[in-house]
Amino acid sequence: AQERYASIRDKPAETKCGTVISLQMNAGLMADLPSLVSSGAEGVGLFRTELQFLTRNKVPRRGELAQLYAKVMDSAGGKRVIFRTLDIGSDKVLPYMKPQDEPNPALGWRAIRVGLDKPGVMRMQLQALIRAANGRPLSVMFPFIAQFEEFTQARDHLLREIDREAALGHVLPAEVEIGAMLETPSLAFAPRHFFELADFISIGGNDLKQFFFAADRENERVRRRYDTLNVSFLTFLEQIVHRCDDTDTPLSFCGEDAGRPIEALCFGAMGLRTLSMRPASIGPVKSLLRRVDLRELRSVINEARTTGAQSVRPAVMDWFRQQG
Ligand code: PEP
Ligand code: MG
Repeated sequence: AQERYASIRDKPAETKCGTVISLQMNAGLMADLPSLVSSGAEGVGLFRTELQFLTRNKVPRRGELAQLYAKVMDSAGGKRVIFRTLDIGSDKVLPYMKPQDEPNPALGWRAIRVGLDKPGVMRMQLQALIRAANGRPLSVMFPFIAQFEEFTQARDHLLREIDREAALGHVLPAEVEIGAMLETPSLAFAPRHFFELADFISIGGNDLKQFFFAADRENERVRRRYDTLNVSFLTFLEQIVHRCDDTDTPLSFCGEDAGRPIEALCFGAMGLRTLSMRPASIGPVKSLLRRVDLRELRSVINEARTTGAQSVRPAVMDWFRQQG
């Protein structure tokens, strides 16, 4: 399928109205990295670090992780890779972690909550990332931040590890970018300081949608009721875009919906300028983006919002069919 899009691989995702959308890829394994070149992705917008933890029977060692992260950065050849710190709990349970027996694991002790309460593993992972960068720029993103303080605490851990590594005589990253995943509605309403402090924000749409509609992302029966192009959800995304615009905070969307072509177009129309997706989706999404005028789509969406429609999808599909 990627051959089909080879002719546009090195071209920008520039729309007819001149808007340029940065298309990045999601990854989680060393084996994903060759796709960076074949897909034409501009970087890795989300590197999920869970797999190296899930496929072993004990916590991986720092040296082993540092080697892997260094290889990932080497293979990216200077393109940016955003490493997300360990996002476990809920659907991702480590075989060597004591089962928590929680009635609602998705709402439970997971991701950054574990990282902050028991910081040993997260600190080890941060050290591995700093050593892997070895003088190169480093981008780290913390998952499942629900309130400002969780971000400042996670960020402080990283800053402290950088100081410690310096004291140990290790080469520091050339620069460090520290971002947060916006996966709970609460974070969209965080104080302005949060948006100022974050070097970037990435919307984890899979979780964000689950919590916005209170519909389990793993439960087909309830999940399917709620369209991503639902007027409430798009309006919410628009508010997040506004808040980030106000503080000039770079914003991306890295949930699975970014790789669905119609959704991707609508996210662009709502003001998102960076989308991170499965490598195989980059060609199809780019090809569509290059054929449309997002201002037109934005008017179609705005018009549909005035009609009381629950989802803008029917209106968007009508418009889409009229495109050449
Ligand atoms: C998300 O929630 O949208 C996301 C990208 O993270 P994950 O799917 O790994 O929870
Ligand atoms: Mg998530």
